[in-house]
Amino acid sequence: MKWVHIHIEGMVQGVGFRPFVYKLANWLNIKGWVCNGVAGVQIEAGGSPEQIEMFKYLLTDDAPVESNITHFYSEDIAERNAEDFQIVESDSTGSPTLLITPDLGLCDHCRAEISNSQNSRYNYPFTTCTHCGPRYSIMQALPYDRPLTTMDEFKMCESCQQEYNNPYDRRHFSQTNSCPACTIPVRLLDNQGIELASTWNEALNELVRKLEAERLLQ
Ligand SMILES: [Zn+2]
Ligand SMILES: [Zn+2]
Repeated sequence: MKWVHIHIEGMVQGVGFRPFVYKLANWLNIKGWVCNGVAGVQIEAGGSPEQIEMFKYLLTDDAPVESNITHFYSEDIAERNAEDFQIVESDSTGSPTLLITPDLGLCDHCRAEISNSQNSRYNYPFTTCTHCGPRYSIMQALPYDRPLTTMDEFKMCESCQQEYNNPYDRRHFSQTNSCPACTIPVRLLDNQGIELASTWNEALNELVRKLEAERLLQ
């Protein structure tokens, strides 16, 4: 069995990169782990020489469209003990060389969900997934992981947590995950700090009303 350490630099966090690596490793029957660090994504992978070659090839060839790989390093390492492939805790040691991921516009899947009255995220303004949503504007430190973003104080409901844990869900390891059941609170305040609305639904409706009224006045 051959083992390699792979270090990938570039825009590789907040774009579904770890879930992608996880799925690819499982598909190729690769053992080891992947983790986010301040210098990019680190992987230790073990398999037959052919599996490892294929893994390395597909890591760059099949990478998520929102990612941008600037450097790809691979070196042979001693054999490790691993039963399976895992996504492990982020590592915040070292000096940051990571390219920061920008905020990503709503993807087609999420747009379809918020437009569908049968969907639990119908009209939900904070609908996101590993392909879309805020990144740069919510980051407080590197690497990009929920505890280091402004999402830290919001706890996922059971259903969001299930999506987060499911390797076959597009919200697998989605750090911005939330839904109406575990909503991000929204309030609308006037310029005196007086609360005009206390739910996102009321706040958005009130905001639209005010903007329209303003336009009518002009
Ligand atoms: Zn999305
Ligand atoms: Zn939820």
